[in-house]
Amino acid sequence: MTEILRDKAALRARVTAWKRAGETVGVVPTMGALHQGHLSLVQAATAGADRVIVTIFVNPKQFNTPSDLENYPRTEHADADKLVPFGVDAVYVPGPDEIYPDGFATSVHVEGLTGILCGAFRPGHFDGVTTVVSKLFLQTGADRAWFGEKDYQQLQVVRRMARDLDIPIEVIGCPTVREPDGLALSSRNLLLPADARARAPAMGREMRGMAEALTAGRSMAELTAHASAALAQAGFDKVEYLELRAADGLALLDRADRPARLLAAAWIGGVRLIDNIAVG
Ligand code: AMP
Repeated sequence: MTEILRDKAALRARVTAWKRAGETVGVVPTMGALHQGHLSLVQAATAGADRVIVTIFVNPKQFNTPSDLENYPRTEHADADKLVPFGVDAVYVPGPDEIYPDGFATSVHVEGLTGILCGAFRPGHFDGVTTVVSKLFLQTGADRAWFGEKDYQQLQVVRRMARDLDIPIEVIGCPTVREPDGLALSSRNLLLPADARARAPAMGREMRGMAEALTAGRSMAELTAHASAALAQAGFDKVEYLELRAADGLALLDRADRPARLLAAAWIGGVRLIDNIAVG
């Protein structure tokens, strides 16, 4: 059974002993409802650090609507079981007071990178992410952290935050894990009604088609209207964004004239899905 730690004092004692023994410490921050995407990060972490901590905390500060927070799947026991085969050293499941004690008054905000893409549609979301992730970095004292490219903007924002605040941690990105039909794994996929689930892979399909066309020299101006119409046709209610951005720094692009990323967010069956792929 993997040990579950619920308070930061116990966590700190454990990490101090490991570091004293000269061991490197890795952390994989999650909100639980673990799937193969999360587990791919855990696998990478076990290969890249002597000791691995998986954190599970459904962070209220990064949800925009109370119903999204309420509906978020919580499967702590199943999560702990899924981690057993990886031999992780600790699962840190902090109670709310370990993260946001009475009178908590600090927020970590990254400028620029957070005003676009998801940040434009989910006000305060990235402040919630950077506030909790900076706390988890400091509480775990980890040397390395693994994040998924599935949340590409989050990965960029967290890297910027760690650099800007001189938190001595290396942030490592891992490729998106997908279902056989191409849908990116997400805890929110559990909330998709069956018909929406069947139609959801259209997003990745359209994006792959666009990525090929962009690589062949076409522009976003030429491609976007057709792709949006195809998504509406497939049953997506609303496309929040479908944008080409520089892979590093996320500047808006029309053509893939440098390493780029195509990123999208869209709603289907009452669930908001995001995806992104490399272009060029
Ligand atoms: P979450 O529990 O959704 O906050 O995600 C925790 C971590 O798992 C984040 O670094 C995510 O980017 C990563 N993650 C989520 N879905 C996937 C996926 N399909 N493939 C790879 N990593 C993922």
